[in-house]
Amino acid sequence: MGDLRLDSLRKEFDRGDIVAVDDLDLHIEDGEFVTLVGPSGCGKTTTLRMIAGLETPTGGTIEIDGEDVTDTHAKHRDVAMVFQNYALYPHKTVMENMAFGLRMSTDLTKEERRERVSETAEMMGIEELLDDKPDELSGGQKQRVALGRAIVREPDVFLFDEPLSNLDAKLRTTMRTEIQRLQNELGITAVYVTHDQEEAMTMGDRIVILNHGDLQQVDEPTAVYRNPVNRFVGGFIGSPSMNFLDVTVSGAGVLDGVDDPFSYRLSDAKAAPLETDDRLTLGVRPEDVRPADPEDDHAVTATVEVVEPIGSDNYLHLDVADEFIARVPADVDPDPGDSITVAFDEDRLHLFDSATGEALTEPAEPAATV
Ligand code: ATP
Repeated sequence: MGDLRLDSLRKEFDRGDIVAVDDLDLHIEDGEFVTLVGPSGCGKTTTLRMIAGLETPTGGTIEIDGEDVTDTHAKHRDVAMVFQNYALYPHKTVMENMAFGLRMSTDLTKEERRERVSETAEMMGIEELLDDKPDELSGGQKQRVALGRAIVREPDVFLFDEPLSNLDAKLRTTMRTEIQRLQNELGITAVYVTHDQEEAMTMGDRIVILNHGDLQQVDEPTAVYRNPVNRFVGGFIGSPSMNFLDVTVSGAGVLDGVDDPFSYRLSDAKAAPLETDDRLTLGVRPEDVRPADPEDDHAVTATVEVVEPIGSDNYLHLDVADEFIARVPADVDPDPGDSITVAFDEDRLHLFDSATGEALTEPAEPAATV
């Protein structure tokens, strides 16, 4: 069992000058895979280290299966952590590395420990590496061993701190699937820290987004993608990022660009809650912008600045706002300097309060693929 509850968890450094984690409330259910994501310095690692017992909270509590472990020594918490830099003992073999934690945390005999390591190694396809030392292994193999060392302890909670950052892109994808498979099979609660929103989206049952130590949103990946609660989440989740445009609301329910010759007519229903002269930020994802006919109700005509082909599609950088990208099919292939008309539907449009960044509306329909 590995139900994990954080209540008002707080960490300050430098006598309160730095608030690394700001009263975080989070409940992670037994067997759940939760990803913690956010920009550098947002408090992900500090949160994880507090759960592991490697960092003492300034305030708040940590419970595992209803037991308050806030003041429990790391050694006595039933958690295992996998680090980015593998943290293997260089002079020990893979077998010894994997068995070491068991020696510290269980009463198993040497024989039993070896048996448990062999079983885990087999499950992970690393049994032929058991006699090797870490410097004989590739990065991917090292990470598999580090993972095996955590799994063999059969912890209640698995903590991952950017475990795949040192691997190349292809291996990262393979290892992502591997970690998910193992976590599913073993049913262990997992908290996985990453700064890579794509990794967070693909791996998490739920995704927790932090910024400056503050919890922004917790939800299933598609929900966060479709209904970001604020501009920060809208911009952070999705790649390329959501386009933003400063607009004001005219009396007739039209959004007028503040700095751009842009206007967008809203339906009565969409315009109803808005007040004339409101300053808003309009957000639209590149994949929700489509080539359109100038007659289209929601047409925007702009000049193409750059065309970025990605094979299946082209990213068109348009001279709207500071940066505005449209993801269009590869056969839409204008030259820089060409004029193009694009549109996006109202149900794909996000509106944020310009001052607070809070979302004002939720798109009615599911947005396109992640
Ligand atoms: P990254 O992705 O860069 O690892 P992160 O989201 O994991 O970032 P943390 O490492 O948790 O962020 O750091 C959160 C904040 O706390 C940062 O401002 C960081 O500088 C600060 N911080 C972390 N550890 C310490 C420390 N030991 N002493 C002082 N400040 C710290």
